[in-house]
Amino acid sequence: MTGAGNWTWLIPGRVPTLIDAGSGDPRHLEAIESALSGARLAQVLVTHGHVDHASGAPALAARFPHARLLKMPWSERDARWPANWEPIADGARLDAGDTALVAVHTPGHAPDHLCFWHEETRSVFCGDLAQMGTTIFIPADRGGDVAAYIASLERILALDPARLFPAHGPIIDEPASLIRHYIAHRQEREAQILDAIRRGDTRAEAVVARLYRGLPDALIVRARDTVTAHLRKLERDGHVHHDGEAWHIIGP
Ligand SMILES: [Zn+2]
Repeated sequence: MTGAGNWTWLIPGRVPTLIDAGSGDPRHLEAIESALSGARLAQVLVTHGHVDHASGAPALAARFPHARLLKMPWSERDARWPANWEPIADGARLDAGDTALVAVHTPGHAPDHLCFWHEETRSVFCGDLAQMGTTIFIPADRGGDVAAYIASLERILALDPARLFPAHGPIIDEPASLIRHYIAHRQEREAQILDAIRRGDTRAEAVVARLYRGLPDALIVRARDTVTAHLRKLERDGHVHHDGEAWHIIGP
């Protein structure tokens, strides 16, 4: 599900900093070592606790014992990647390289998701907030939250970034248009889901069958999770209700 794999970003300088821990692949550790060219890795800033971003922490700790490991806590998840985690709070200013980054809490894809904002270059290390050519998965049953995701997109848009450095796919040079597209896509999805329920699809599976025709089986669980995340937002907004079995329209 991570496509061609995922990026980590190494910021050289006074405080050599790695953004995201990867998965502990020995080739990745080698690549970091060689990119450091003798410098000592000071810290690893992790965008969120998903396997491709955080599971490499123990391997990094073993290879670079002086490096601090930092992320926003996610209590149910962090114990999976045993390391001496230090917490990052929303708004924290973090020395990195020869400059500083500001942590921006951007939940939605994951509850602990952080972006790292570099004001001088108006750049954002955006983790899994955005990826060129696709939309972002919001896993309803693992801390995903569509309303929080939309608010996070709006928060990053308000920074007026010039460039996003994502964890997957190419660098994003026109972030505003992509972020606006994402927000519009979620609104459109929401309208389609409401319409499906009005037409009598009272279960997430039926909504998926209507909206994602021809989807390969391997992706159906994901689609259902996404639809469920939307339905929970619609429930909080007072548009639908789940009676334990089925979804119903209750609002306008
Ligand atoms: Zn992720």
